[in-house]
Amino acid sequence: MGKPTGFLEYPRELPLVQPPAERIHNWLEFHEHADENTLRTQGARCMDCGVPFCHTGSLIEGMAAGCPINNLIPEWNDLVYRGLWREALERLHKTNNFPEFTGRVCPAPCEGSCVLGIHSPPVTIKSIECAIVDKGFEEGWIVPEPPAVRTGKKVAVVGSGPAGLAAAAQLNRAGHWVTVFERADRIGGLLMYGIPNMKLDKRIVQRRVDLLKAEGVAFVTNCEVGKDYPVEKLRKLFDAIILCGGATKPRDLPIEGRQLAGIHFAMEFLHANTKSLLDSNHADGAYISAKGKDVVVIGGGDTGTDCVGTALRHGCKSLVQFEILPMPPLTRAPDNPWPQWPKVYKLDYGQEEAAAIFGKDPREYLIQTKKFVGDAKGHVKELHTVRVEWVKDNGRTIPREVPGSERVFPAQLVLLALGFLGPESQLLDQLGVEKDPRSNAKAEHGKFATNVPGVFAAGDMRRGQSLVVWAINEGRGAARECDRYLMGDTQLP
Ligand SMILES: Cc1cc2nc3c(=O)[nH]c(=O)nc-3n(C[C@H](O)[C@H](O)[C@H](O)COP(=O)(O)OP(=O)(O)OC[C@H]3O[C@@H](n4cnc5c(N)ncnc54)[C@H](O)[C@@H]3O)c2cc1C
Ligand code: SF4
Repeated sequence: MGKPTGFLEYPRELPLVQPPAERIHNWLEFHEHADENTLRTQGARCMDCGVPFCHTGSLIEGMAAGCPINNLIPEWNDLVYRGLWREALERLHKTNNFPEFTGRVCPAPCEGSCVLGIHSPPVTIKSIECAIVDKGFEEGWIVPEPPAVRTGKKVAVVGSGPAGLAAAAQLNRAGHWVTVFERADRIGGLLMYGIPNMKLDKRIVQRRVDLLKAEGVAFVTNCEVGKDYPVEKLRKLFDAIILCGGATKPRDLPIEGRQLAGIHFAMEFLHANTKSLLDSNHADGAYISAKGKDVVVIGGGDTGTDCVGTALRHGCKSLVQFEILPMPPLTRAPDNPWPQWPKVYKLDYGQEEAAAIFGKDPREYLIQTKKFVGDAKGHVKELHTVRVEWVKDNGRTIPREVPGSERVFPAQLVLLALGFLGPESQLLDQLGVEKDPRSNAKAEHGKFATNVPGVFAAGDMRRGQSLVVWAINEGRGAARECDRYLMGDTQLP
């Protein structure tokens, strides 16, 4: 530890962000890096506390406490404090193939379990991570590193999200020839077409893809395995397969009026928006526009927040985000102690922007939609809702409607961000891969092998919709086990 008293001397300082009312006029990232001196003093706040929960990545109450890829956080905090940026980058790349993604989009469970966080604001781990890797690119330290020796084995990775990319990077490093198949027209999975550009600039995704290409990974786009590319051919031409197809089946809201025009799944809205932005800066008009519309986003999670940020950038007329759960507490509840993930109220970027434009957080809590009502042309015009309260019923907690609490919200655009129900089954069925009770590919975490020899599964396709950092954890783990299967032993971590 470079500065034993750092945590006593320096307060937590986050990087500057562009004001919300300004940044909604463009699609660029809005975080700026702190200057070198500030970053070093922020690194100095790390106490190197001996039992650092920040890098444990253990699951407590089903939620990650600490970093799921076991980033060596106290080590690189200290290196940053001492100005040893290149050494910090080396340490960071030991556990994380893509710190430029996690440094931007990770919800940072590490910070929730930082020991300093017990009594003070935690270390700014995520922004230090981002600064280390961004400096590495700026300084030209990150260059293609193709393997010195090839094994001659061929591996197919299906799906190019963070799980697929991490698996490809690791297997290529071990000397195997890796081909990544992606049905979309661009590589990156939800890094490319889920998370909006203002949160993760797509040039940053492409930069890493280009590096992987230069290291020898082959990418095939516009190719859906099981449809455009037969699974029999895949089995014949490749020695092993890693399935990283994500959990793409959206949860629907099958209530009266669902068939009306103007009601879309969040991913239809987000995917088309980013594609049109990248293809033509929106000039092709090939996206669902929120301009001038009353917008209701159903679902209070991160996907809903991305819909909020996107609708605001289109210039929506009004915006409401529904959440069926109660508003979380402002500080940890007694049953949610450190080092668990803190389930507390958070004003995320989209809500902050909506508050700057419309004067308040757009979220309505404890609300349930009863029906959609349309106009004469079959287009949605309003939502009918009711308040709910959560009550115990035979040991389960269920929502109960509050009589007399009905409300009507105008809406010409409704976005359903109600979560995901698991992977699409077609590919798994064609390969004969067993599924678990939640319809995910059945494979034990840590082993990642399915019931079909030589076929592995990782990321959201195995664990259900989760986080980028977990996808990287799983992609790396599946690569390790695949390497062991191919070679009888493995050096991969
Ligand atoms: C809108 C949204 C925002 C999110 N924001 C965040 C965030 O801020 N931070 C965070 O940590 N997590 C976030 N997540 C979650 C995170 O993006 C995912 O957990 C992560 O991307 C999962 O990675 P993956 O590689 O398993 O799958 P994905 O990223 O879903 O990639 C799977 C890929 O497989 C392709 N594919 C599927 N089937 C086939 C086939 N048969 N042939 C070829 N290709 C196929 C798909 O087209 C897709 O590109 C967000 C999720 C969504 C939906
Ligand atoms: S990947 Fe996420 S959890 Fe791990 S150190 Fe970075 S921000 Fe923290």
